[in-house]
Order: sequence, then structure tokens, then C-alpha cells
Amino acid sequence: MQKIDYKSDIIQPDIINDLLDKKVDNSKVDDILNKALKLKGLDLDESAELMNVTDEETAEKIFKAAKKVKEIIYGNRIVLFAPLYAANVCTNNCLYCGFRRDNNSIVRRVLTPDEVAEEAKAIMNLGHKRIVLLTGEDYAATGLDYLEECIQKIYDAKVFNGEIRRINVNIAPLSVEDFKRLDSFGIGTYQLFQETYNEEVYKYVHPAGKKANYRWRLEAMDRALEAGMHDVGIGPLFGLTDYRFETLATLMHSHHLDAKFGVGPHTISVPRIEPAKGVTFSENPPEKIDEFTFKKIVAVLRLSVPYTGIILSTRETPALRKELCDLGASQISAESRVNPGGYSVHKETDSQFTMSDNRTLDEVVRALLKDGYTPSFCTACYRKGRIGKDFMDLAKPGLIKQFCQPNAVSTLAEYLYDYASEETKKEGLKFIEQQIANTENPRVQSQLTDMIAKVAAGERDVYN
Ligand code: SAM
Ligand code: SF4
Repeated sequence: MQKIDYKSDIIQPDIINDLLDKKVDNSKVDDILNKALKLKGLDLDESAELMNVTDEETAEKIFKAAKKVKEIIYGNRIVLFAPLYAANVCTNNCLYCGFRRDNNSIVRRVLTPDEVAEEAKAIMNLGHKRIVLLTGEDYAATGLDYLEECIQKIYDAKVFNGEIRRINVNIAPLSVEDFKRLDSFGIGTYQLFQETYNEEVYKYVHPAGKKANYRWRLEAMDRALEAGMHDVGIGPLFGLTDYRFETLATLMHSHHLDAKFGVGPHTISVPRIEPAKGVTFSENPPEKIDEFTFKKIVAVLRLSVPYTGIILSTRETPALRKELCDLGASQISAESRVNPGGYSVHKETDSQFTMSDNRTLDEVVRALLKDGYTPSFCTACYRKGRIGKDFMDLAKPGLIKQFCQPNAVSTLAEYLYDYASEETKKEGLKFIEQQIANTENPRVQSQLTDMIAKVAAGERDVYN
């Protein structure tokens, strides 16, 4: 395999297509999986070899390895968050999206910063501590002055024992100067999905507005990191073109950022197109992926970039979300509303797309506990400055575990005391006792015992 110069361009389609044209060599799979189990990640040709697997027996081996890697690096933690849509006005016309400018069947809204704060309070009252703030692309209606005010109001908003401690944002690409300004607002991760890395398909599905410019979007993460932002989140929107190309291109994007900036993306999201009101294209996307394929994608990502978080939204059903968490997903949204005002101030506004998981946060937490997962509301790394390259340098030797597990359990305890139903609280407190008992390192065990005692006594935001 030729050495790829990841710095030379972000996406090099010929290389990806050559790799995908190769016949599967199942004899190589075991060696590739053994390498992945050493947590070193995979080269692009190795990821391609796994992506090309179609028989179920070999795929099962891939799933088994992915589960193992997930367990070693993340333990049993799943981080929870909620999206906050501030506006659904948009100057673009993306063929698949409910907010596209030609969709006359929806009511348009831009929440005022005070309404955004009300939404944040409603989210806090569910028990969330972490949100992703989203808007359509409309620089005039939802520019940086607007976002700055919204972000400030969200951080300032408080309810009994509730606050938002980390705001990630998913908004249209900015210039380097504007990214510098966005960074100064105190956000967590800047997320942006490329939607498709296939330039031709990209141009077809983004016919108008600023988003029609493929390179402006593709180069956004380079600009964000040049501007000094620490954590970026990437992802394709599955359903537009060959999933194998999209997955390898996502990995190539990740390797490019790593080669150029010394740190890859903090997260990869894996959204699939869901039906949106008034948007025929969304009901029948050209390259729909089935569940088996989706599981393969998540497993290959987990093996290829083991330290990168994988984010799943409520686009997926509860049953599939459980399987994808086993295979590699590390963050999931819960009790989401994907319409501006959906939590409280304008519940009736139309959604961006249809969701497939409509459980309450309490139900999601209980299901996670039943499956042996620690639901985590932790935001400590970002607030302690363990971000960007520093985070990865800690994560790689496994050190992050000594921080993450106690913090996860402590934020779960907060949730149980302040927001959970009686049933979930009972299950959760039992689960916490087991977690303490199962902690092998005596120092971490005693630290965790202290933290939980503090939370039980009424102290909040206990983390290390
Ligand atoms: N408007 C900004 C943009 O497009 O980058 C940011 C926020 S947009 C609300 C977030 C993401 O929603 C888009 O990047 C796209 O991947 C996803 N999306 C749009 N339409 C969708 C649909 N019908 N089903 C699932 N996801 C969709
Ligand atoms: Fe607008 Fe984003 Fe929807 Fe495209 S995906 S129409 S840019 S909100």
C-alpha cells in the first residue's frame, strides 16, 4: 500500500475508490482485527478491507473486536445530551432537510435569546447538563452576535440544582476570524457534518445558498483548528451516496486533521436521513443503509479511530441504539426536540425530521442501567482544560479512565437524586453501589466513595 500524504488534501477520492475496488481478502481480516485490539487504530487500507466485508460470519468477528475496543477504552459509560434548536430559518436548500428554504409547509421561527434560555431551563428540568445548540444557516438572522447572546443566556440560566455545563454547537461554517470569535464564547465542540464527501453528489443535493460551495464546507474544520478551537466534530449524512465511500472519506478527513494539527476530531456523528415534513427526497433517499450496514459502519469507525467519540441521535430506534452503543457509540441524545421551541416555548413548531426514539430521559437512563451502562452527564474534561490534543494525550495511555468513571457515576448520582422517577432512582442507586464495589483500583474506589457521599449529602457538581 502506498503511503498516503494526508496533508496534501483533505479528501483524495481516487485513493478511496482504488481501495474500494479491491476484492475482499478475508485472510487479512484476523490480522487487522488483532492490530485494532492493540488500540493503535487502523490505516485507511485496513479500514477499507473491513468496510468491504459483506458476509455475516466475518462481520461478526468485526463486531466482536469493536465491542472489545469499546469496552477497554470507554468502560461502560454512555454520555447523554440534548439538542437545542434556536432557529429553523435557512438560506440554503438542501434536498433532504425540513428547514430547506423552499419548504413552504413549515412555520419559521427564530427564538429570542430569552426564549432560548427558557428552552435551556426546560432541558435542565429533564436532568440534562450538556446540549448541542443548532440553527439553520442564515447569517443575518442567526449571526455571531445572536449566538453570543444565546450562549451567555444559556450559561447564566439556572433552575433548582440545574445548569447547562457544556454547550457544543452545530452551525454553518465560519471564517477563521469568526471561528476565533465563536471560540471566545466558551463552547465545547464545534460540530459540522459534511453530509457527503462525494463532490458531485454534494453539488446535486445542495443546489443553492452558501452551502452549495463544497470546499467552503470541507475546509471548515481546518479553519476552526487554525483559529485555535480545540475540539471539532465531523460526520457524513448517510443515505446520499455509497456508505463505504462516506465512511472512508470520514476517516480520511480525520487522518488529515491529525496529520496537519496533531489531533483528530473529538467526535464523529453518524446521522441517517429521516423523513421530514414537506420534503419528498427525505422519504426515499438514494442510498438508504440497512441496520446490518449501519452496525458495520459504527464498528469499523470504532476500530479505526478508537479514541474518537461516536455520537448517535434519536434518529434511531431504541433497539438499534443499544446495539450501536455495544459496538462503539459513546454519546447519545435523549428526550430530544428537533424544532425551535420544542421543549417549552413553541411546542407545536415543525421538526427538522422525524425521530425514532421518543422515550423520556428517565426511560433512557433506566434502559441503560438495565443494559449495564453508566449513564453519564459528565462535562469535567472540558471544564478542567482536558481538551484537544491534551485530551487525546491522556486518553491514549488509558489515563482518562481514572477521571471518567468516577465523574460519570457522580453525575449519575446527581441525576438520580434531583430528577429521576422513584423506580429509576432505586435501580440507579443499586447500580452505583455495584460500580463502587467493582472498582479495582483502591485509590479510585475511595475517591468515588467520597464523591458519591458528597452528592448524597446535597453537594452538586462534584468532579475531578
Ligand atoms: N444548518 C446547519 C448545517 O446544515 O450545517 C447546522 C444544523 S443542521 C440543523 C444539522 C444537521 O441535520 C445537518 O448537518 C444534516 O446532516 C442533518 N439533517 C438535515 N436533514 C436531515 C434529515 N432529513 N434527516 C436526518 N438528518 C438531517
Ligand atoms: Fe439549512 Fe442545515 Fe437544513 Fe441545509 S441542513 S437546509 S443548511 S438547516
